[in-house]
Amino acid sequence: MEAVCPIDSQFADEISAILKPPMPHQVQEYFDQLTTTREIRGLKVRQNGEHGKGVYADVDFEEGDLVLKDQMLAGSQHSSNKIDCLVCSFCFCFVGSIELQIGRKLYLQDLGVSTNNECERKPFSHIPKETCQIDSSDGEDDSYVVDHRSSKEYGSSSSKYRTPLPKEIVESLMNGELVLPYSKQFPLPSVISCPGGCRESYYCSKLCAEADWDLFHSLLCTGARSKSLNKEALLKFIQHANETNDIFLLAAKVVSFTILRYKKSKAANLEKEGKCTTDSCNLSLLLEAWKPISMGYKRRWWECIALPDDVDCHEETAFRMQIKELAFMSLQLLKAAIFDKECEPLFSLEIYGHIIGMFELNNLDLVVPSPVEDYFLYIDDLPHSDKKEAEITTRPVLDALGDDYSVCCEGTAFFPLQSCMNHSCYPNAKAFKRDEDRDGQATIIALRPISKGEEVTISYIEEDLPFEERQALLADYGFRCKCPKCLEEEL
Ligand SMILES: [Zn+2]
Ligand SMILES: [Zn+2]
Ligand SMILES: [Zn+2]
Repeated sequence: MEAVCPIDSQFADEISAILKPPMPHQVQEYFDQLTTTREIRGLKVRQNGEHGKGVYADVDFEEGDLVLKDQMLAGSQHSSNKIDCLVCSFCFCFVGSIELQIGRKLYLQDLGVSTNNECERKPFSHIPKETCQIDSSDGEDDSYVVDHRSSKEYGSSSSKYRTPLPKEIVESLMNGELVLPYSKQFPLPSVISCPGGCRESYYCSKLCAEADWDLFHSLLCTGARSKSLNKEALLKFIQHANETNDIFLLAAKVVSFTILRYKKSKAANLEKEGKCTTDSCNLSLLLEAWKPISMGYKRRWWECIALPDDVDCHEETAFRMQIKELAFMSLQLLKAAIFDKECEPLFSLEIYGHIIGMFELNNLDLVVPSPVEDYFLYIDDLPHSDKKEAEITTRPVLDALGDDYSVCCEGTAFFPLQSCMNHSCYPNAKAFKRDEDRDGQATIIALRPISKGEEVTISYIEEDLPFEERQALLADYGFRCKCPKCLEEEL
């Protein structure tokens, strides 16, 4: 039976106003403003008929130059990855200490919490593997080249090679009693708890904790000071997302973000004009609150999700229906948890589906390299006698961790500027984490000189694949590639 959402029909006009793509001048205004707040030397978002938006160089870039550091609009760490890495829930940098990172992971592993191969079992893993293009496909031998596919493979195979540490050692790593040699060379910010009192979100600073609280978390916190409507329902929603697809947690962040912005501007208006409040929806305020989200290209999730390899073509309709039902189920749980009467249209399946579809179509994986990996590489590079001495302590730890000692922080995020970058199979830029890039921001580096006025392009797929395979993968993004490489190979 097809999922029918009553809010879809009740608020049809509001929903179509919310989902209407913004006017070109609004887009221009928004991105012109945004480019002034990013670490960029010279980029411009321009709109052209054929490809919609594009990002253009406003200065000359040399090969290897940083083109863009883009702050995410919303992002979240994969649920399964939370066992491996303790990161700030707002900026996604690693927190605590090398010892805490290791001790916590071993502790959770010993508890039998499954490791990062968990998501392989999920029925609807949302990210097509090919979009994991933060890695380098040209085989550079660099430890910061991050490929989460391979880390997953290690994760699933390594358990049998682990030699567990005694419980007391694991505990002393966690509580700071055991200090590993040279770990002081890799300081991490201390762990700040969630101001709402949940034990789910941790931060690197008060600033991050407060920003997350104001922008997203206050409605989604399961702690004592949560602003959610119903904490039991919220826990159910989170559990459902963890068991099915953690993209729902990210979609909930977007809904929460919009409600909180709406409330803030309503309160500001009230103060300014002294108007008495009604609890009917103020559509223009809701549209304003939604504006940053409106900039992302969207389609309904169940229509744009790539058909998994193990789903037969003639089962496609049933598969898409199943996805839609899954989204509807998740939405009902979210609605019970954080429903807001004035923002009711946001709880329509139509909007929820488009939010998830936005992540499906625009995601650049959130990846932050692990300082634990750096630490063990550092030990390995020590002069022989120092290394031998250090390894008396570190070797058993490494053996306990197994091959997946270096799992990086992985998640999904939406980066507003990066998402405006068009694809090319012969791109002039790529996402790449440098040594100093230790948080969740997207970093885009020039692959070759880019001259002023040229469009900056990245590859959404493995660009070395044969022509037909590339086109098939890009069809999932809804276009046929006409880059110079494709035009040449098409003939
Ligand atoms: Zn932070
Ligand atoms: Zn919290
Ligand atoms: Zn192409």
